[in-house]
Amino acid sequence: MSASPANVFLFSIDLEDVRDFIPGGHQYREAVPANTLKYLDWLDKIQSKATFFIVGKTARDYPDLIREIIRRGHETACHTDTHIHLTKMTADQFRTDCENFLTTLTGLGATAVKGFRAPTFSMTEQSRWAYGVLREFGFTYSSSVLPSTNPLFGWPEFKGEGIYDGIYELPMNIGSWPVKVPFGGGVYFRFFPSFILNSQARATFAKGGAVLSYFHPYDVDTDQEPFMHPHMNDSKALNWLMYVNRGKVFSKAENLIEQTGAVVMRYDHYLASKIKA
Ligand SMILES: [Zn+2]
Repeated sequence: MSASPANVFLFSIDLEDVRDFIPGGHQYREAVPANTLKYLDWLDKIQSKATFFIVGKTARDYPDLIREIIRRGHETACHTDTHIHLTKMTADQFRTDCENFLTTLTGLGATAVKGFRAPTFSMTEQSRWAYGVLREFGFTYSSSVLPSTNPLFGWPEFKGEGIYDGIYELPMNIGSWPVKVPFGGGVYFRFFPSFILNSQARATFAKGGAVLSYFHPYDVDTDQEPFMHPHMNDSKALNWLMYVNRGKVFSKAENLIEQTGAVVMRYDHYLASKIKA
């Protein structure tokens, strides 16, 4: 087995439409295509490939966008068909979900869909049966675990990166004190200043790990109307955080790359040395 590449920034976008998750969401303007194109253009600019964990419904809503992601050489992976948390599905319901997702993606030209990310990191001790189903459908890896306590989900006793029921799980990295959160994506990446993000990234690389990420179309949407996001418990303070520094995602990512010598990679390429075909 060859060694894993060093200083890797696994850049990924969870491709979903936040409007699907809030009541009356579709009264707000369409934002997924324009914001996804921002990621695609930025990735072209830095000459890198990334992984898009795609919701099947979003793929059906925007088939040309999925074709464009494939055309530009990025990895297409699964973020379930309708973004239902694993904890709310039975194994048979999840089988149907995987089937529907794969039918959609292969219909749009995706080949070798190997990766999976559970909605809202809902792979936990209670839902780990899902690894067996993923294996049935030919998936080889998952990046679905938050190895800490979390108000929503979390698997604090998770043993660390490795094979679970035939699937290679690459859990989120949790920063060290005082950043004991998944700093590599979403709201945390936008909130923390670059010197903190970069020092957490350096510490991760020093231990031989990769920095994982999880951005969304809305993370770079600087024009979005104010509305309450899902899972905020109607907290105005938490919801305010959802809008912080949306215009700085790309400059902060570039700063991290420059200051730490990170290399942006697709998940499947990074895992090629760890997973036997
Ligand atoms: Zn999601």
